[in-house]
Amino acid sequence: MTRPPIRFNCVGCGDCCRGRHGFMSLTLAETVAWLRRGQRVAVLLEAFPASGEQEAGPGLQLPVDYGVEVRSGGMGLRIAPVFGADLQAGCPNLADDNACRIYDDRPAVCRLYPAQTHPLSVFRMDTRACPPEAWNPPAGVILVEEDGRMPPGIQAMVEAFQGELGRDAAAKVAICEALGVHLAGWRGNGIVIHIPSVQDFLDAIAQAGARTEGPAPLSWALRVVGAELAAKLADADAQLYAGDGRAAHVFMPMATSSGDPRAS
Ligand code: SF4
Ligand code: SF4
Repeated sequence: MTRPPIRFNCVGCGDCCRGRHGFMSLTLAETVAWLRRGQRVAVLLEAFPASGEQEAGPGLQLPVDYGVEVRSGGMGLRIAPVFGADLQAGCPNLADDNACRIYDDRPAVCRLYPAQTHPLSVFRMDTRACPPEAWNPPAGVILVEEDGRMPPGIQAMVEAFQGELGRDAAAKVAICEALGVHLAGWRGNGIVIHIPSVQDFLDAIAQAGARTEGPAPLSWALRVVGAELAAKLADADAQLYAGDGRAAHVFMPMATSSGDPRAS
């Protein structure tokens, strides 16, 4: 079924910056730049099956090579860490006059807004901060085609960003392990969020980058909600979180959260 294309024209209201809270996905290079400005970055973790079911959500297929294969107890699984700029108290780069203080160096997600940039999310206009007058003006650029795809130019930019995230995934897992972080949620069930100090994060990046040998394989623990999923994972010999004092974290169950905390 086709629908009319979605057209867009930025009206410069600044609501995407003022209203942006939660976490904004960064590449590894953007993470380093963000941290070097003294600004916090969170690690958002959810695990996926290593193989088999590759359904990532309604209408979304998980790419077979998505994330990095790790071990949880006796079970293999995949992890794709999201490093997310901490915008819970608003963006630290937003000036009082609504200008972006790092405009020339702003992250890809800011450059691409309001396009959908997360590979496991679908575009929804109602999740965007843009006011009604920004949508579907006759002379607006097409953001979503009739068939639901992005136009090739925007698609190419989004794919370049996603490609960089994919290339970063192994380094991000190594940085998590250098941080002592090896606890994740489960796709569709919940997300584990760690927010290290800026210095600990920078130290872990340096430590992971300086390593000449692969790390000793760590077992990742899984934190999930619901007896059925926990039993299924225990049957598969996964290591389940037991409140054992791992690095401080927040667990956000997807069923009760107000929305996916991964910024797109
Ligand atoms: S980095 Fe700049 S463009 Fe991005 S949300 Fe912050 S103020 Fe806006
Ligand atoms: S919220 Fe939308 S219309 Fe307003 S400045 Fe941001 S991108 Fe432009």
